[in-house]
This record gives sequence, C-alpha cells and structure tokens, in this order.
Amino acid sequence: MLPFVWSDDCLRHEPQAEIWIGTSTPATEVPARALAIRDALLGAGAQEVPAVPHDDSALHAVHEPSLVEFLRTAWEEWSAADLPSDRVVPYVFARAELTSGREPAAPTAVWARPGLFAYDTMTLIGPGTWEAARAAVDVALTAVDLVSDGERVAYACCRPPGHHVTRSLYGGSCYLNNSAVAAAALLEPLGGPVAVVDIDAHHGNGTQEIFLNRGDVLTASVHVDPGAGWFPHFLGFAGESDGANLNLPLSPGTGDDSWLEAVREAATFASPARALVVALGVDAAAGDPESPLEVSAAGYREAGRILGELGLPTVVVQEGGYDLATIGSLVVETLTGVESSA
Ligand SMILES: [Zn+2]
Repeated sequence: MLPFVWSDDCLRHEPQAEIWIGTSTPATEVPARALAIRDALLGAGAQEVPAVPHDDSALHAVHEPSLVEFLRTAWEEWSAADLPSDRVVPYVFARAELTSGREPAAPTAVWARPGLFAYDTMTLIGPGTWEAARAAVDVALTAVDLVSDGERVAYACCRPPGHHVTRSLYGGSCYLNNSAVAAAALLEPLGGPVAVVDIDAHHGNGTQEIFLNRGDVLTASVHVDPGAGWFPHFLGFAGESDGANLNLPLSPGTGDDSWLEAVREAATFASPARALVVALGVDAAAGDPESPLEVSAAGYREAGRILGELGLPTVVVQEGGYDLATIGSLVVETLTGVESSA
C-alpha cells in the first residue's frame, strides 16, 4: 500500500473543549483520531514515513506572517498573563467594519489579541497546539516531497486539520491550512495548475479564499449545504466561483449516489490540473457525529477510485472525521480506491 507520513508531534494538541454557542463542549478533534488512522494504515500494510522538518517558506506562500507569528507565540503569552481560561479563546473580534477598513490597532491586552486572527470561539489554543499544527504542515510537505520524487500517491496522516483556515484567520478547529500549503508547494516542482478537491463534509472555506482570484490553484469542495444551517454558515454556496472554484453543496441526508455524482463533477473540474491535493475528510460518513451526510465506506472507496482515475500525482491530506470507531477504516477504504485506479 502507498506511503503515509507521520509525526508524533501532531498528537501534542489537546484542545479538551470547544466554546460552542457560548457553552463549553467536549472537543472532538482529538489525538486519538490520528492514532486510529495510523493503526488502520499499519494494519493494511501501508509504509510509514517520518515527517521531515521544512522551513516556513511554504507556509508563508499561503498565510500572512502575522497569523503564523501569533499562533507560534499565543499560548506562551496567554499562559504568562495568568488569565482565568486555561486555553486561548477570543472574546472580542476585530471586524474590518469596526475600523471602517483601517488596520485595527495592535491591542495592548494579551486577551484581546486572538480577536485579530480568530473567527470563531471553538478553536482553542493550548500547550502543544502550535507544535502540532506546525508538525501537520511538515507532514503535508513531506508527502509533497514523496510525490515530487516520483511516488504517484502519498498520504499525509496529520492533525489538527486545516481547510477552514484562510490567509490570515484561523477557525473551525483548524490553525494552519495543510492542504493549501501542499497545493502551493506542488506548484513549484510540477507546474500549475494544481487542484484541491475537498471531500470533507464541511466546505473548504479557507482553501477557497486563499486561492480565489489566483488561477494557479483550482479548488472544488463537496459538502453539506451551509444554507441548511451548517458550518461555515457564511459561505460555501454554489456560485461563489471566479472560475477557479467550484462549490457543490448537498442537502442533509445525502447518500452515496448524489455524493459520488458531486465527487465526479469535482474530479472533472480538477482534470486540467498537473497535480492533485485531496482534502480528505471522512466526516461525510453515515454515523459521523459532526455532519448529516450519509456516505458509506463503499462510497468513500469509490470516491478514491474516481479521484485516482485522474492519473495525477496526488497528495491526500487528512482533514475531518470524528467517529473514532470508523475513521481508520474509512481512510483505508478511500486510499485503497485511489490506489486501485492509480
Ligand atoms: Zn468537516
């Protein structure tokens, strides 16, 4: 089976909780997710490749340096300030309209700083968050290296996920956009355009916004309709396209047939690309607690087959998936599908 990239540092982020609609709820984006996937991969005979450290240049190709610097120092500053919360959580948000478009002042209070970079309250930063998020980028970049060096497909077994992070804002349990970093890094060795096909249950809003109006990276996302009340709520609708983006929102309850039809449409959209990033969330599966889509394991295998059939150098990057009992087998099913048509 194909090589997968791993770093123990991805386990260091333990959010414990999310502040969701004003309430502290147990975190679902937990280290056990990655361990479950790794166990399933090793059981299936996949070859583990340790992540290699990469410098920040690939990171700065998709993120504002100020976001990267904030994430790097946020926990240290917060913990030194002796605040009542044991995690970095915003309480006030520097919306552009607040300052009529002027650059907001850099706040003196440590507890106001997250409001410059966070767009929700559920994406908490604690000890190890930066190390894990940065390691996830190294995992994705090492998978890019494998493909650049001739592997047809490589899988980045990373967390925390990344597809909700924009150029300068983090949220949606994501801190750094691993899929976007991988796409930007593939541009250099393989040439453009590169395509990102996001089959996570939720819209890949961060990836869309990072590459909007650039033209060198095509982005397609198959996800539950935000108009039905699902994250990221404010975007992810059909028709946000500038020609380089395709959104395929689906109704809650959508199962294999319509979901796979959308995956086929996304694959067709991606077909002019010279390399492919699959943003693989397995939370569209029936039984996942975080989405109302009803995709089966066979559906994920078929999605993998459809995307593998494009015949492109392919980096598969882990995004969501929250049912610990099935997350590993769903990833193995998808990768088996990719390999079957590679
Ligand atoms: Zn998701």
